[in-house]
Amino acid sequence: MNKLMTNILDLPGVIVEDYKQIVATLILVVKSKQKTSKCPLCNQSSHHLHQNYKYLVRDLPIGNKEVMLRVNRRRFKCKNCQKPFNESLEFVEKKKNLYPLNKSGNSKKEGSQSRHSMVEYDS
Ligand SMILES: [Zn+2]
Repeated sequence: MNKLMTNILDLPGVIVEDYKQIVATLILVVKSKQKTSKCPLCNQSSHHLHQNYKYLVRDLPIGNKEVMLRVNRRRFKCKNCQKPFNESLEFVEKKKNLYPLNKSGNSKKEGSQSRHSMVEYDS
């Protein structure tokens, strides 16, 4: 895990495992510290891993670099109702509010309706 990048990203419960830079894009490989997730149907927490899905989430830029988060979203299977469900990744859904990076000198304001696009990531 990369402590510096984890601190820079500063998202609760999120670890930056690795990062790479491809031209003007910084890709942070992140994962949730949580080992379990709660079933949305019966609220039972499950650690029975069903599948992994990788996503790229576009983040706010740092300076003139575009930032993408490579997220491993796990799919669990609930023992109680036998249904698979995706782990909730609050940091993806609430990211906009949590993201504190203002120290890059980039004073450009993001449009208020800019959404994080989540695309499936292959490999
Ligand atoms: Zn359940």
